[in-house]
Amino acid sequence: MSDINGTDNMQNIIDTGEEYFLHTYNRFPVVFERGDGVHLYDKNGKEYLDFFAGIAVNALGYNHPEYTKALHEQIDNVLHISNYFYSESAANAAKGLCELSGMDKVFFTNSGAEAIEGALKMARKYGKGRKQIIAMEHSFHGRTMGAVSVTGTTSYREPFGPMITDVSFAKFNDLESVKELVNDDTCAIILETIQGEGGINTAEPEFMKGIRKICDDNDIVMIIDEVQCGMGRSGKMFAFQNYGVTPDILTLAKAIGNGVPAGAFLCKKDYAALAAGDHGSTYGGNPLVTTAICAVLKAFKEDNILENVNEVGGYLYEKLEELKSKHDGIIEHRGTGLMQGLVFDGNVKEIILKALDKGLVLISAGANIIRFLPPLIIKKSDVDEMIAILDSVL
Ligand code: PLP
Repeated sequence: MSDINGTDNMQNIIDTGEEYFLHTYNRFPVVFERGDGVHLYDKNGKEYLDFFAGIAVNALGYNHPEYTKALHEQIDNVLHISNYFYSESAANAAKGLCELSGMDKVFFTNSGAEAIEGALKMARKYGKGRKQIIAMEHSFHGRTMGAVSVTGTTSYREPFGPMITDVSFAKFNDLESVKELVNDDTCAIILETIQGEGGINTAEPEFMKGIRKICDDNDIVMIIDEVQCGMGRSGKMFAFQNYGVTPDILTLAKAIGNGVPAGAFLCKKDYAALAAGDHGSTYGGNPLVTTAICAVLKAFKEDNILENVNEVGGYLYEKLEELKSKHDGIIEHRGTGLMQGLVFDGNVKEIILKALDKGLVLISAGANIIRFLPPLIIKKSDVDEMIAILDSVL
């Protein structure tokens, strides 16, 4: 057996991983060892500019001093106590998320998919026997059975059927296609405000408002999934706040923990249909992760994260527009804030690999879209550096 301890041989580590990991990811051939600010460093000490943020997780970048200090202190106190007791950090994290989102109640989970599971269970219970859930084509809600059942990519669902029943798919941004599916059995409509994995597709204001109206008129639960686009990425704390529309249930994860496995589903009090014994989680909301959530919320305020997203997001938009006008292979530019995408006329894998070689970490969405999901602390100079590398690759 190869000894991965004490070696600086990246290939050795990659080979060991490939030998033992279940091959569900086509990983890039890099072993990252540490991060600092908006940079990652591989095992050989090479520096990379990060426009990936662990798939929109590391909002505060790496090694944020106050966040790291809070976690160290919590590790010294207690990591885990179970949800049968209270902790100060869980109470404060719940209060903070509710105040920011306009929701009334929170359940903490370990991931985005688990937040979706809880949201679906609560909507079904609220529906008192109504079962149908309307989801969107090209949506992504996670890989557990409930979450994948409402994910709008057939290839993610088909090998694992039967899925949970009574799920129908409408066309994103096509209100008529939603209306056609609504019936007396509909209990919930679930959508992302900005589809991430589906290719950076932003909901039109009329679509969001129209869905809100359909839900109000028919007592249907509106579930908004902001696991990827929430927590400041759009320039508002939550992307739905750009529309003057509030969900009945909101799902969050990724950036709320900034790297520790944290998720949550939140609801308005009229939709809080889950009672004692209906739902649970051993780890969900434990002192370690809720300390992380509190530290993230504090940093958002103290470091003016939203202002930075709006300023640098606007600059990124301009620079990507310039890049698009320079290169014929770029056929579309989408998104907002620090969640933007470039659509290419072919597969982007080669571009991403070449950028990685030049010290830039990028991520795709599907075969032909490059997503830009940097830490929310990036500066204009980081955008300039990213554009220079990508330009040279193209
Ligand atoms: N919902 C959305 C919008 C996502 O983008 C993701 C993951 O990318 C999920 C849910 C699932 O989250 P997780 O991977 O934490 O289970």
